[in-house]
Amino acid sequence: MIDLLSINDPGGEYPKSYYTSTVNIQNHLPSLQENIKCQICIIGAGFTGLSAALSLSDLGYEAVVLEANRIGFGASGRNGGQVGSGQRWNQEKLEMHFGFKDAQIFWNIAEDAKKEVYSRIKRHAIKCDYNSGIIHASINQRDTLDSYDQADQLRNKYNYQHLRKLNEKEISEILDTDFYKGGYLDLGASHLNPLKFVMGLGSAAQTAGARIYEKTKVVKIEYGKKNKLTTSTGTVVDSDYLLIACNGYLGNLDQQTASRVMPINNFIIATEPLKSGFLKPFLRYNYAVADSKFIPNYFRPSPDKRLIFGGGENYTYKFPKNFKKISRGKMVKIYPQLKDTKIDFSWGGTLAITRNRLPCFRKVSRTAFSISGYSGHGVALSVIAGKIFAELIAKKSEKFDYFSQLPIEPFPGKSSLRWPLLVLGMFWYSLRDRFK
Ligand SMILES: Cc1cc2nc3c(=O)[nH]c(=O)nc-3n(C[C@H](O)[C@H](O)[C@H](O)COP(=O)(O)OP(=O)(O)OC[C@H]3O[C@@H](n4cnc5c(N)ncnc54)[C@H](O)[C@@H]3O)c2cc1C
Repeated sequence: MIDLLSINDPGGEYPKSYYTSTVNIQNHLPSLQENIKCQICIIGAGFTGLSAALSLSDLGYEAVVLEANRIGFGASGRNGGQVGSGQRWNQEKLEMHFGFKDAQIFWNIAEDAKKEVYSRIKRHAIKCDYNSGIIHASINQRDTLDSYDQADQLRNKYNYQHLRKLNEKEISEILDTDFYKGGYLDLGASHLNPLKFVMGLGSAAQTAGARIYEKTKVVKIEYGKKNKLTTSTGTVVDSDYLLIACNGYLGNLDQQTASRVMPINNFIIATEPLKSGFLKPFLRYNYAVADSKFIPNYFRPSPDKRLIFGGGENYTYKFPKNFKKISRGKMVKIYPQLKDTKIDFSWGGTLAITRNRLPCFRKVSRTAFSISGYSGHGVALSVIAGKIFAELIAKKSEKFDYFSQLPIEPFPGKSSLRWPLLVLGMFWYSLRDRFK
């Protein structure tokens, strides 16, 4: 049986990413050595799990986090670091499907999500290279006009005043490339070093009283009045409540959730520090960029003047051997001046998508819950999702119920068929990118 937790990262260790080069990864937390009982057990120490643990501890609950590998081992410690606005669907699409009132609720929750990220960074003094500004860059004229419509809609209907439209000349001056035809700058969005942030959340949760066990993989869950979890070493955890926060690394731990979220891989490279004069305005502005391709390119500068560039996806469990070359090719298309620049780091990560790309909040039983499937838009949403779970336990809000009523259908076919169907669908859309 293929294990997503170790197939691409032997020994369950962090990948050799730019992010791991910026933090101390030597200090392991203990693994679970004995049977325990607790109020709330959380599986997975990413943004979702740790944010939940921190919020629960702040509310006075006893939270225990079990992590198969290391804090931030999953998508949370290796992503593009973009703290984007809104949901994965734009507001127009949300309005069309759910009506304006619900679209507004989605928007407000996403705004709260960005605020929550910022307030945790401030409150817990997390040093994670936080910077404002994401540019939505359009690859053709049609996408530029669409992006202007979206900007107008956000300003007029949602009173969102942080956007500035960019024409072709302006975007090319800021980004130092002629590749893009326009777009907008969102100064209410931001970017950060995700591994520093997730480790900061972990420390804050521990300070607030949560217990976190690394190298503690849950292999079996027995749902009941209480939840009984068995780990790979045979230790047992009995918990009153359970949150499954495993996202793309879930495997078959919970079949019902697994049928609704699909793991896919995405890849990032980081160049050597750029030679003096290269991408000068881009480094100075220090904005992140996400473009309008179906499989978006996303990039931003690092504090030590590298280009961190994400692009390229695959849909098999194992990362392809040539993903560094693929991502590099995409980068050089946008920045031909970097054709001789060395790539110091390349890594991949697994995220989870749902069929309609909205997050999957599930009540697995009366005492067990799962949250996952942010579909590539999870940095801010996973942080608020953890808080929403804590509010559910404390009976302080109904937001969990709101999300859990969304129609997140299972992917068609049994597990053997789901992959070929997904690959076919994604291949079709990636073809569209080529002809845009
Ligand atoms: C390459 C890449 C780039 C991305 N870029 C962005 C971006 O720029 N902006 C954005 O908004 N989103 C982005 N995302 C998505 C975002 O990173 C995720 O939505 C978010 O991190 C999900 O957090 P999580 O805590 O739910 O899951 P994860 O961070 O994946 O955490 C799940 C954890 O569960 C653990 N686990 C799994 N199974 C078990 C088990 N059986 N027992 C114990 N522990 C277990 C795993 O080891 C893992 O640490 C990106 C994702 C990837 C992969």
